[in-house]
Amino acid sequence: MFINHELITELLKKAQNATKEDINNVLDKAQKREKLNYEDIATLLEVNDKDQLDRLFKIAGKIKNDIYGNRVVLFAPLYISNYCVNDCVYCGYQRCNKFKRRKLTQDEIRQEVKILEKMGHKRLALEAGEDPKNCPIEYILESLDTIYSTYNENGNIRRVNVNIAATTVENYRKLKEKGIGTYILFQETYHKPTFIKMHGKSIKNDYYYHLTAFDRAMEAGVDDVGAGVLFGLSDPKFEVLGLMMHNAHLEEKFGVGFHTISFPRLKKAEGMSLENFPHLVDDDMFKKIVAITRLAVPLTGIIMSTRESAEMRNELLKYGVSQVSAGSITGVGGYKEEEEGKNVDQFTLEDHRTPIQVLKELISDEYLPSYCTACYRMGRTGDRFMSLAKSGEIHNVCTPNALTTLKEFLIDYGDEELQAMGDELIKKEIEKIKRDDIKQIVNNNLVSLQNGERDLYL
Ligand code: SF4
Ligand code: SF4
Repeated sequence: MFINHELITELLKKAQNATKEDINNVLDKAQKREKLNYEDIATLLEVNDKDQLDRLFKIAGKIKNDIYGNRVVLFAPLYISNYCVNDCVYCGYQRCNKFKRRKLTQDEIRQEVKILEKMGHKRLALEAGEDPKNCPIEYILESLDTIYSTYNENGNIRRVNVNIAATTVENYRKLKEKGIGTYILFQETYHKPTFIKMHGKSIKNDYYYHLTAFDRAMEAGVDDVGAGVLFGLSDPKFEVLGLMMHNAHLEEKFGVGFHTISFPRLKKAEGMSLENFPHLVDDDMFKKIVAITRLAVPLTGIIMSTRESAEMRNELLKYGVSQVSAGSITGVGGYKEEEEGKNVDQFTLEDHRTPIQVLKELISDEYLPSYCTACYRMGRTGDRFMSLAKSGEIHNVCTPNALTTLKEFLIDYGDEELQAMGDELIKKEIEKIKRDDIKQIVNNNLVSLQNGERDLYL
């Protein structure tokens, strides 16, 4: 088993005796961009001293800035079915919650997608509960076809990441053939006894099958996989080391680790009370684990959803997060029925801003919002993506693509205020580009966009 519980427990115990000097030594190592080992990560998880915490955030911020610049990628979730045969105690969709379950028809999916396209989205995360009878793989595959073939004026969805239950190599192969982006699956908790306790009598309650889902996905050729833990179920320090061991396992076996890691924190949901969860993660610990993850896996995207408040998302963008969702609804058919309040959401959301509001705030804070989906469309996935990222050349494709997709958004969806803010930012960002050929590409793209061309990528 590649999640070595004894080793994690031992490392965490040993790290409790870490001195200030030990912590400083690890911070020095991180500052020099040396790879951190498990012991280093366990040591960092013990940082509590204010000066050392500040230093941790500063190093994480510098790494974030060197690799991602000020770009922030945007996406939205699309819930298509809330049928679920599982009884995850933390989730509003758990089967013992009695409400009228539904899955969207293909027509309803088209309607939802059109609304998302009108919001300017290009990248979706498709979400569905686990129910082999009511929500079989064929339904997911058909839905993917529907999403990719739905166009709304200038809008189209260019990348669909898929978050469905652990499945077989054969099914992952089918998903791959439909052109999915990242396959996302949260382990929920790496701590096996907690995993078993959280999942009752349900088919999800097979720790090993769940844990090896990415192995099967990669065997099937899905080379971008996105991990996550539901922070609050078990000791967050254990979870961070679990994530690192899982990532190392994939790197060792397939040559590439996680494409992204999501950082959801447990929130109140229908049929559960937060009082029953002793490991809730407070804001300070949450910030710390995001920053440590940035140090430990610098090239892995960190995703934050609207479960977190705008303030927390803004804070974490400084030193870790590289992708955020915007304008999200977590109920099935919810984009259409938002005002009617009919849905049972999967969990409670904190950030209710529209994409335009999110973009305005990002731009005010000098971030560059990006709707880029280029790597997936150009076949830069898995180790091809990682080798570009490792070469440090990724800036030369991400920045032009971010500027092009932002301009595309401004033309197609921006209000007057956003257009002015966005154009100003684009001008400043072009000035910052050092290579003349890249500057030229961006300028050409901006002209092409004004002339009605779309889908311009490097
Ligand atoms: Fe079902 Fe997923 Fe919710 Fe568990 S977390 S009850 S599998 S929808
Ligand atoms: Fe992401 Fe690739 Fe676009 Fe950069 S170029 S933002 S890595 S999809």
